[in-house]
Amino acid sequence: MAQQQHTPTTPPTDKVAAITGGGSGIGAAVAEQLAQAGYRVAVLDIQIDNARAVAQRLHAQRPDGAVALAIDVSSPQSVDEAFGALEQHFGKAADVLVNSAGIMPVAAVMECSWEMFRKAMDVNVGGTFLCSQRAARGMIAQRFGRIVNLASISSERAGVGRVAYGTSKTAITGLTRQFAMELGSHGITVNAVAPGPVLTPMTERNYTPETRAAFEATIPARRMGVTNEIANAIVYLCSDGAAYVNGVFLPVDGGYLAAGVGTT
Ligand code: NAD
Repeated sequence: MAQQQHTPTTPPTDKVAAITGGGSGIGAAVAEQLAQAGYRVAVLDIQIDNARAVAQRLHAQRPDGAVALAIDVSSPQSVDEAFGALEQHFGKAADVLVNSAGIMPVAAVMECSWEMFRKAMDVNVGGTFLCSQRAARGMIAQRFGRIVNLASISSERAGVGRVAYGTSKTAITGLTRQFAMELGSHGITVNAVAPGPVLTPMTERNYTPETRAAFEATIPARRMGVTNEIANAIVYLCSDGAAYVNGVFLPVDGGYLAAGVGTT
């Protein structure tokens, strides 16, 4: 499997990055790559033990460089407290925010409960909104910021059982554009990365062997992605060099959306 390591040439060592959902999957890979690039990293997750385990690994690279913080991204109070704790810990606001916290409820249109639908909207869309708005306060004050949201191929394609998840991911692309437009004049960029199917605990929970085989047959790369491949794109969008990239929807999907087939 093509695990690729990101090796930036100019590490921005004074910067602080906040990664929601940093305790697992794509968020954990982003946390590790940003730490390697010299960022101080806050690993934010509702599963605090997982966040602590990731932060512990990052300590090995830079003892003062990582903190684990509990957050429920769907709660305004929890978001405010977590970002307040981040600012206290590092003595400054976050320069970078990666909104990777997310859930994937699977249910067909006629079986999806209101609670399930609402929960996907609250965590995936509401969480991205709340964390971005809270982090942007500090970014506006310091006239620099990078926000990267996790959209999905499900933002663009319908799929079996994806009514709640896909709808929430489509909303994230609209939210990304709106934030990009309104925050661009403050030195802040807001972009969305849209992974194809990636091997993470989320897909392990939700994909049957048939789902995976069907995906692999329709992805031009003929395989699922790995977390570092998504993190590579996110780390680029967080970099100083990406200052003029704002409001984009960047598929990192092995060519899946370009091939134009439906999500299985
Ligand atoms: P994952 O399940 O491995 O990680 C998600 C993390 O979010 C977990 O650590 C979980 O505890 C955390 N989380 C869930 N609800 C939360 C809440 N209310 N507050 C704070 N944290 C919460 O999933 P992943 O595969 O790494 O997915 C990361 C992001 O990428 C998600 O937004 C997902 O929708 C998106 N994505 C994943 C894939 C894929 O194939 N894995 C594809 C496209 C998009």
